[in-house]
Amino acid sequence: MNRIVYVNGKYLPENEAKVSIFDRGFLFADGVYEVTSVLDGKLIDFPSHQRRLARSLNEVGMVAPCTDNELLDIHRELVTRNSLHEGMIYLQVTRGEADRDFLFPENAKPTIVLFTQAKNLTNSPKIKSGYKVITVPDLRWKRRDIKTVQLLYPSMAKMEATRAGADDAWLVEDGFITEGTSNNAYIVQASGNIITRNLSNDILHGITRATLLQFAAEEGVTVEQRPFTLDEALGAEEAFITAASLFVAPVIEIDGKPVGNGKPGPIVSRLRKIYLEKSMEAAM
Ligand code: PLP
Repeated sequence: MNRIVYVNGKYLPENEAKVSIFDRGFLFADGVYEVTSVLDGKLIDFPSHQRRLARSLNEVGMVAPCTDNELLDIHRELVTRNSLHEGMIYLQVTRGEADRDFLFPENAKPTIVLFTQAKNLTNSPKIKSGYKVITVPDLRWKRRDIKTVQLLYPSMAKMEATRAGADDAWLVEDGFITEGTSNNAYIVQASGNIITRNLSNDILHGITRATLLQFAAEEGVTVEQRPFTLDEALGAEEAFITAASLFVAPVIEIDGKPVGNGKPGPIVSRLRKIYLEKSMEAAM
């Protein structure tokens, strides 16, 4: 594999791209990121990812490394240079390079890195079979609304899920599900109503979540935004997760117990179809 990646103003073959060992992203996880999916060579939900990046940067007191238009151009250029038809673009901005110190450096220049990952997103086998999740305590920090690169705990939780024969973990705090390790979590009740946790600092404000809730409202689907318990999830008809890299995906088992009949259900499948159709119309 020799992709063309973007680092601090340059397009380079991936094996020539370098970041300093003094970069604060490396030393302190002092950085934020975004993942934008690409379908048919087009960017999905791009303006929303751009807005969330600006918010994350602002929350941690970092300056934007480039303008919005430049960011769009870089994304498009990477799609072209890598002939990316379907997959993701990963973007990371760190506070930059400085001698190691807990205090933020005064004049560091942000580091910006982007790369593509080709992946079959629309026809992944898990969409047909459904995801199995386990629940684990949510031991992350309390600013989960900021999309920072400190992903060690979610990574550990996902490893634990894999060792337990599942695909992912749902995180639990004070008896309520917060979200998945890298996705937002939802249940569908017998009434057809959808429940997903309300926005706060407890969860990442998922872009796919926001777009899906807008489409659901347009289709007349009722969505309750409130915390839900593991018991409610186990008693649900269907369950699902959303993220830029998987759109809307069914969850069929929680802690070894089936959700509904233990198979991907019709409501999740409809929501996925709606999400894909409508967001492709708006893709850029
Ligand atoms: N929640 C967490 C913790 C995540 O890491 C992610 C994506 O990485 C999401 C939710 C889904 O967010 P989005 O739909 O913007 O990809």
